[in-house]
Amino acid sequence: MAAIDGRTRLVGLLGHPIEHTLSPAMHNAAFNALGLNYCYLPLPVAPAELGAAIAGVVALGFVGVNVTIPHKQNVMAYLDEISTEAQAIGAVNLIEFRQNRRIGHNMDGAGFLEALRRQQITVRGARSLVFGAGGAARAVVYTLLQAGSEVTILNRTTARAESLAAALCSAAGDVRLTAGPLDTEYVAALAAETDLVVNTTALGMTPAVESNPWPASVPYPARAVAYDLVYAPRETAFLRTAKAAGARTIDGLQMLLYQGALAFEMWTGQPAPLDVMLSELLKGRMHS
Ligand code: NAP
Repeated sequence: MAAIDGRTRLVGLLGHPIEHTLSPAMHNAAFNALGLNYCYLPLPVAPAELGAAIAGVVALGFVGVNVTIPHKQNVMAYLDEISTEAQAIGAVNLIEFRQNRRIGHNMDGAGFLEALRRQQITVRGARSLVFGAGGAARAVVYTLLQAGSEVTILNRTTARAESLAAALCSAAGDVRLTAGPLDTEYVAALAAETDLVVNTTALGMTPAVESNPWPASVPYPARAVAYDLVYAPRETAFLRTAKAAGARTIDGLQMLLYQGALAFEMWTGQPAPLDVMLSELLKGRMHS
Protein backbone atom coordinates (compact mmCIF):
# COMPACT_ATOMS: atom_id res chain seq x y z
CA MET A 1 0.00 0.00 0.00
CA ALA A 2 1.34 3.46 -0.91
CA ALA A 3 2.29 5.68 2.04
CA ILE A 4 -0.44 7.98 3.34
CA ASP A 5 0.81 11.57 3.59
CA GLY A 6 -0.44 15.15 3.65
CA ARG A 7 -1.48 14.99 0.00
CA THR A 8 -3.52 11.77 0.21
CA ARG A 9 -7.02 12.19 -1.25
CA LEU A 10 -9.78 10.52 0.69
CA VAL A 11 -12.81 8.51 -0.43
CA GLY A 12 -14.87 5.98 1.50
CA LEU A 13 -18.06 4.08 2.19
CA LEU A 14 -20.86 5.15 4.55
CA GLY A 15 -22.99 2.24 5.77
CA HIS A 16 -24.06 0.22 8.80
CA PRO A 17 -22.91 -2.48 9.22
CA ILE A 18 -20.00 -2.57 6.76
CA GLU A 19 -17.70 -5.25 8.21
CA HIS A 20 -18.03 -7.44 5.10
CA THR A 21 -17.61 -4.80 2.41
CA LEU A 22 -15.27 -5.63 -0.48
CA SER A 23 -15.04 -1.98 -1.65
CA PRO A 24 -11.98 -0.78 0.35
CA ALA A 25 -9.83 -3.71 -0.87
CA MET A 26 -11.01 -3.26 -4.47
CA HIS A 27 -10.45 0.51 -4.60
CA ASN A 28 -7.19 0.62 -2.62
CA ALA A 29 -5.68 -2.10 -4.85
CA ALA A 30 -6.72 -0.05 -7.90
CA PHE A 31 -5.18 3.19 -6.52
CA ASN A 32 -2.03 1.29 -5.70
CA ALA A 33 -1.78 -0.32 -9.14
CA LEU A 34 -1.89 3.12 -10.80
CA GLY A 35 0.34 4.80 -8.18
CA LEU A 36 -2.45 7.23 -7.20
CA ASN A 37 -2.23 8.88 -3.79
CA TYR A 38 -5.79 8.05 -2.72
CA CYS A 39 -7.14 6.08 0.22
CA TYR A 40 -10.59 4.40 0.50
CA LEU A 41 -11.90 4.11 4.06
CA PRO A 42 -14.76 2.07 5.52
CA LEU A 43 -16.88 4.55 7.53
CA PRO A 44 -19.45 2.84 9.79
CA VAL A 45 -22.23 5.36 10.43
CA ALA A 46 -25.34 4.68 12.55
CA PRO A 47 -28.61 6.02 11.06
CA ALA A 48 -28.96 8.82 13.63
CA GLU A 49 -25.47 10.12 12.73
CA LEU A 50 -25.91 10.31 8.96
CA GLY A 51 -26.25 14.11 8.71
CA ALA A 52 -23.23 14.66 10.96
CA ALA A 53 -21.22 12.11 8.97
CA ILE A 54 -21.99 13.85 5.65
CA ALA A 55 -21.00 17.22 7.12
CA GLY A 56 -17.87 15.51 8.49
CA VAL A 57 -16.67 14.04 5.20
CA VAL A 58 -17.30 17.38 3.48
CA ALA A 59 -15.32 19.21 6.19
CA LEU A 60 -12.50 16.67 5.88
CA GLY A 61 -12.20 17.35 2.15
CA PHE A 62 -13.24 13.90 0.88
CA VAL A 63 -13.40 13.63 -2.91
CA GLY A 64 -16.53 11.48 -2.67
CA VAL A 65 -18.16 8.58 -0.86
CA ASN A 66 -20.17 5.47 -1.65
CA VAL A 67 -23.35 4.97 0.33
CA THR A 68 -24.85 1.61 1.24
CA ILE A 69 -27.56 0.07 3.45
CA PRO A 70 -29.31 1.58 5.41
CA HIS A 71 -28.57 5.10 4.10
CA LYS A 72 -29.33 4.94 0.35
CA GLN A 73 -32.69 6.71 0.66
CA ASN A 74 -32.22 8.90 3.75
CA VAL A 75 -28.99 10.42 2.45
CA MET A 76 -30.96 12.31 -0.21
CA ALA A 77 -32.05 14.85 2.41
CA TYR A 78 -28.42 16.00 2.78
CA LEU A 79 -27.61 16.57 -0.90
CA ASP A 80 -27.69 19.69 -3.11
CA GLU A 81 -28.35 17.82 -6.33
CA ILE A 82 -29.56 14.31 -7.27
CA SER A 83 -29.02 12.82 -10.73
CA THR A 84 -32.06 11.91 -12.83
CA GLU A 85 -31.20 8.18 -12.51
CA ALA A 86 -30.89 8.32 -8.73
CA GLN A 87 -34.21 10.19 -8.48
CA ALA A 88 -35.98 7.62 -10.66
CA ILE A 89 -34.37 4.68 -8.84
CA GLY A 90 -35.16 6.33 -5.51
CA ALA A 91 -31.73 5.69 -4.00
CA VAL A 92 -28.23 7.24 -3.97
CA ASN A 93 -25.13 5.04 -3.73
CA LEU A 94 -22.43 7.51 -4.72
CA ILE A 95 -21.85 11.12 -3.68
CA GLU A 96 -19.51 13.41 -5.48
CA PHE A 97 -18.27 16.56 -3.69
CA ARG A 98 -17.65 19.13 -6.39
CA GLN A 99 -17.37 22.93 -6.15
CA ASN A 100 -18.98 22.97 -2.72
CA ARG A 101 -21.90 20.90 -3.93
CA ARG A 102 -22.99 17.44 -2.77
CA ILE A 103 -24.16 15.56 -5.85
CA GLY A 104 -25.92 12.19 -5.50
CA HIS A 105 -25.74 9.46 -8.14
CA ASN A 106 -26.86 5.86 -8.45
CA MET A 107 -24.37 3.57 -10.22
CA ASP A 108 -26.40 0.33 -9.92
CA GLY A 109 -28.00 0.76 -13.32
CA ALA A 110 -24.87 2.06 -15.04
CA GLY A 111 -22.80 -0.83 -13.64
CA PHE A 112 -25.48 -3.32 -14.71
CA LEU A 113 -25.59 -1.91 -18.26
CA GLU A 114 -21.82 -1.66 -18.64
CA ALA A 115 -21.46 -5.44 -18.19
CA LEU A 116 -23.92 -5.97 -21.07
CA ARG A 117 -22.17 -3.37 -23.22
CA ARG A 118 -18.76 -4.99 -22.68
CA GLN A 119 -20.17 -8.27 -23.97
CA GLN A 120 -21.71 -6.52 -26.99
CA ILE A 121 -25.24 -7.50 -25.97
CA THR A 122 -27.84 -5.28 -27.60
CA VAL A 123 -30.47 -3.95 -25.23
CA ARG A 124 -32.29 -1.61 -27.63
CA GLY A 125 -35.32 -3.48 -28.97
CA ALA A 126 -34.67 -6.51 -26.72
CA ARG A 127 -37.43 -8.20 -24.70
CA SER A 128 -36.30 -8.57 -21.09
CA LEU A 129 -37.72 -10.64 -18.28
CA VAL A 130 -36.78 -9.39 -14.82
CA PHE A 131 -37.30 -11.62 -11.78
CA GLY A 132 -37.83 -9.62 -8.57
CA ALA A 133 -39.25 -6.22 -7.65
CA GLY A 134 -37.00 -4.94 -4.85
CA GLY A 135 -34.40 -2.18 -4.79
CA ALA A 136 -32.04 -3.84 -7.29
CA ALA A 137 -34.93 -4.57 -9.68
CA ARG A 138 -35.91 -0.92 -9.66
CA ALA A 139 -32.45 0.12 -10.89
CA VAL A 140 -32.31 -2.70 -13.47
CA VAL A 141 -35.80 -2.12 -14.90
CA TYR A 142 -35.37 1.66 -15.10
CA THR A 143 -32.03 1.19 -16.87
CA LEU A 144 -33.35 -1.40 -19.34
CA LEU A 145 -36.27 0.89 -20.25
CA GLN A 146 -33.95 3.85 -20.72
CA ALA A 147 -31.73 1.71 -22.95
CA GLY A 148 -34.72 0.82 -25.15
CA SER A 149 -35.76 -2.65 -23.97
CA GLU A 150 -39.28 -3.93 -23.40
CA VAL A 151 -39.53 -5.29 -19.85
CA THR A 152 -41.75 -7.75 -17.97
CA ILE A 153 -41.31 -7.83 -14.18
CA LEU A 154 -42.22 -11.12 -12.48
CA ASN A 155 -42.22 -11.26 -8.69
CA ARG A 156 -43.31 -13.67 -5.93
CA THR A 157 -45.44 -10.85 -4.49
CA THR A 158 -47.33 -9.77 -7.62
CA ALA A 159 -48.61 -6.52 -6.09
CA ARG A 160 -45.01 -5.39 -5.58
CA ALA A 161 -44.20 -6.06 -9.27
CA GLU A 162 -47.30 -4.11 -10.28
CA SER A 163 -46.51 -1.14 -8.10
CA LEU A 164 -42.90 -1.07 -9.37
CA ALA A 165 -44.20 -1.11 -12.95
CA ALA A 166 -46.64 1.70 -12.19
CA ALA A 167 -43.92 3.81 -10.54
CA LEU A 168 -41.45 3.29 -13.38
CA CYS A 169 -44.02 3.90 -16.09
CA SER A 170 -44.31 7.44 -14.81
CA ALA A 171 -40.57 7.85 -14.05
CA ALA A 172 -39.45 6.50 -17.42
CA GLY A 173 -42.51 7.82 -19.27
CA ASP A 174 -42.83 4.41 -20.82
CA VAL A 175 -45.50 1.83 -21.59
CA ARG A 176 -43.29 -1.10 -22.72
CA LEU A 177 -43.50 -2.41 -19.20
CA THR A 178 -45.72 -5.19 -17.79
CA ALA A 179 -45.82 -7.10 -14.52
CA GLY A 180 -47.00 -10.47 -13.25
CA PRO A 181 -46.43 -13.29 -10.78
CA LEU A 182 -43.18 -15.27 -10.72
CA ASP A 183 -44.76 -18.62 -11.55
CA THR A 184 -44.24 -21.47 -14.02
CA GLU A 185 -47.19 -20.56 -16.25
CA TYR A 186 -46.03 -16.98 -16.79
CA VAL A 187 -42.42 -17.90 -17.43
CA ALA A 188 -43.46 -20.68 -19.86
CA ALA A 189 -45.66 -18.23 -21.81
CA LEU A 190 -42.88 -15.65 -22.14
CA ALA A 191 -39.79 -17.87 -22.56
CA ALA A 192 -39.76 -18.18 -26.35
CA GLU A 193 -40.11 -14.41 -26.82
CA THR A 194 -37.33 -13.42 -24.41
CA ASP A 195 -33.85 -12.07 -25.25
CA LEU A 196 -32.57 -11.33 -21.74
CA VAL A 197 -33.48 -12.80 -18.34
CA VAL A 198 -32.27 -10.98 -15.22
CA ASN A 199 -32.47 -12.42 -11.72
CA THR A 200 -32.66 -9.62 -9.15
CA THR A 201 -34.14 -11.84 -6.41
CA ALA A 202 -32.03 -13.32 -3.64
CA LEU A 203 -32.76 -16.84 -4.99
CA GLY A 204 -29.55 -18.82 -5.43
CA MET A 205 -27.54 -16.82 -2.92
CA THR A 206 -25.44 -18.60 -0.27
CA PRO A 207 -26.52 -20.59 1.74
CA ALA A 208 -29.62 -21.56 -0.34
CA VAL A 209 -27.46 -22.18 -3.41
CA GLU A 210 -29.82 -24.66 -5.08
CA SER A 211 -32.77 -22.23 -5.22
CA ASN A 212 -33.44 -21.07 -8.76
CA PRO A 213 -35.94 -18.48 -10.08
CA TRP A 214 -36.18 -20.34 -13.43
CA PRO A 215 -38.91 -23.05 -13.14
CA ALA A 216 -37.48 -26.56 -13.54
CA SER A 217 -40.25 -27.66 -15.94
CA VAL A 218 -39.66 -24.84 -18.47
CA PRO A 219 -36.80 -25.36 -20.97
CA TYR A 220 -34.43 -22.36 -20.87
CA PRO A 221 -34.35 -20.58 -24.27
CA ALA A 222 -30.80 -20.80 -25.65
CA ARG A 223 -31.10 -17.38 -27.33
CA ALA A 224 -31.78 -15.54 -24.04
CA VAL A 225 -28.79 -14.08 -22.19
CA ALA A 226 -28.99 -14.94 -18.46
CA TYR A 227 -27.80 -12.24 -16.04
CA ASP A 228 -27.75 -12.97 -12.30
CA LEU A 229 -27.22 -10.15 -9.78
CA VAL A 230 -26.36 -12.70 -7.09
CA TYR A 231 -22.54 -12.92 -6.84
CA ALA A 232 -22.05 -15.44 -4.03
CA PRO A 233 -21.72 -18.05 -5.44
CA ARG A 234 -20.42 -16.66 -8.71
CA GLU A 235 -22.06 -19.44 -10.76
CA THR A 236 -25.61 -19.75 -9.44
CA ALA A 237 -28.13 -22.54 -10.13
CA PHE A 238 -29.90 -20.10 -12.51
CA LEU A 239 -26.72 -19.47 -14.51
CA ARG A 240 -26.00 -23.22 -14.62
CA THR A 241 -29.48 -23.84 -16.07
CA ALA A 242 -28.92 -21.20 -18.77
CA LYS A 243 -25.40 -22.40 -19.56
CA ALA A 244 -26.60 -26.02 -19.90
CA ALA A 245 -29.14 -24.80 -22.50
CA GLY A 246 -26.32 -23.14 -24.46
CA ALA A 247 -27.17 -19.54 -23.44
CA ARG A 248 -24.67 -16.77 -22.65
CA THR A 249 -24.38 -15.80 -18.99
CA ILE A 250 -23.26 -12.79 -16.91
CA ASP A 251 -22.60 -13.13 -13.18
CA GLY A 252 -23.27 -10.59 -10.41
CA LEU A 253 -19.61 -9.82 -9.87
CA GLN A 254 -19.60 -7.97 -13.21
CA MET A 255 -22.17 -5.42 -12.01
CA LEU A 256 -20.25 -4.93 -8.77
CA LEU A 257 -17.01 -4.48 -10.70
CA TYR A 258 -18.33 -1.95 -13.19
CA GLN A 259 -20.08 0.11 -10.52
CA GLY A 260 -16.77 0.29 -8.69
CA ALA A 261 -14.95 1.16 -11.91
CA LEU A 262 -17.37 4.01 -12.69
CA ALA A 263 -16.90 5.47 -9.18
CA PHE A 264 -13.12 5.13 -9.50
CA GLU A 265 -13.17 6.97 -12.82
CA MET A 266 -15.36 9.74 -11.43
CA TRP A 267 -12.99 10.30 -8.49
CA THR A 268 -9.64 9.97 -10.27
CA GLY A 269 -10.38 10.87 -13.91
CA GLN A 270 -8.39 7.75 -14.92
CA PRO A 271 -9.54 4.47 -16.52
CA ALA A 272 -10.06 1.85 -13.81
CA PRO A 273 -7.68 -1.15 -13.74
CA LEU A 274 -10.45 -3.74 -14.13
CA ASP A 275 -8.25 -6.83 -13.80
CA VAL A 276 -6.82 -5.64 -10.45
CA MET A 277 -10.29 -4.78 -9.15
CA LEU A 278 -11.80 -8.11 -10.23
CA SER A 279 -9.00 -10.08 -8.63
CA GLU A 280 -9.60 -8.26 -5.30
CA LEU A 281 -13.33 -9.00 -5.52
CA LEU A 282 -12.60 -12.69 -6.13
CA LYS A 283 -10.14 -12.83 -3.19
CA GLY A 284 -12.59 -11.04 -0.89
CA ARG A 285 -15.46 -13.31 -1.85
CA MET A 286 -13.41 -16.37 -0.97
CA HIS A 287 -12.69 -14.97 2.49
CA SER A 288 -16.12 -13.53 3.33
P1 NAP B 1 -34.78 -6.56 -1.81
O1 NAP B 1 -35.14 -5.15 -2.07
O2 NAP B 1 -34.91 -7.12 -0.45
O3 NAP B 1 -35.67 -7.48 -2.83
C1 NAP B 1 -35.58 -8.88 -2.76
C2 NAP B 1 -36.33 -9.49 -3.95
O4 NAP B 1 -36.09 -10.92 -3.90
C3 NAP B 1 -37.83 -9.29 -3.92
O5 NAP B 1 -38.32 -9.22 -5.24
C4 NAP B 1 -38.32 -10.60 -3.25
O6 NAP B 1 -39.65 -10.94 -3.59
C5 NAP B 1 -37.37 -11.59 -3.87
N1 NAP B 1 -37.23 -12.82 -3.07
C6 NAP B 1 -36.57 -12.96 -1.90
N2 NAP B 1 -36.67 -14.23 -1.47
C7 NAP B 1 -37.43 -14.89 -2.39
C8 NAP B 1 -37.90 -16.23 -2.50
N3 NAP B 1 -37.61 -17.16 -1.57
N4 NAP B 1 -38.65 -16.56 -3.58
C9 NAP B 1 -38.94 -15.65 -4.53
N5 NAP B 1 -38.52 -14.36 -4.48
C10 NAP B 1 -37.79 -13.98 -3.41
O7 NAP B 1 -33.27 -6.87 -2.24
P2 NAP B 1 -32.40 -6.10 -3.37
O8 NAP B 1 -31.65 -4.99 -2.75
O9 NAP B 1 -33.26 -5.82 -4.54
O10 NAP B 1 -31.30 -7.23 -3.73
C11 NAP B 1 -31.69 -8.41 -4.40
C12 NAP B 1 -30.46 -9.22 -4.79
O11 NAP B 1 -29.63 -8.51 -5.70
C13 NAP B 1 -29.55 -9.63 -3.62
O12 NAP B 1 -29.13 -10.95 -3.83
C14 NAP B 1 -28.38 -8.67 -3.75
O13 NAP B 1 -27.18 -9.23 -3.21
C15 NAP B 1 -28.28 -8.55 -5.25
N6 NAP B 1 -27.61 -7.29 -5.68
C16 NAP B 1 -26.46 -7.42 -6.41
C17 NAP B 1 -25.82 -6.28 -6.87
C18 NAP B 1 -24.55 -6.43 -7.68
O14 NAP B 1 -23.83 -5.44 -7.86
N7 NAP B 1 -24.27 -7.60 -8.22
C19 NAP B 1 -26.34 -5.00 -6.58
C20 NAP B 1 -27.53 -4.91 -5.84
C21 NAP B 1 -28.15 -6.06 -5.40
P3 NAP B 1 -40.90 -10.42 -2.68
O15 NAP B 1 -41.17 -9.02 -3.13
O16 NAP B 1 -41.99 -11.36 -3.02
O17 NAP B 1 -40.47 -10.51 -1.23
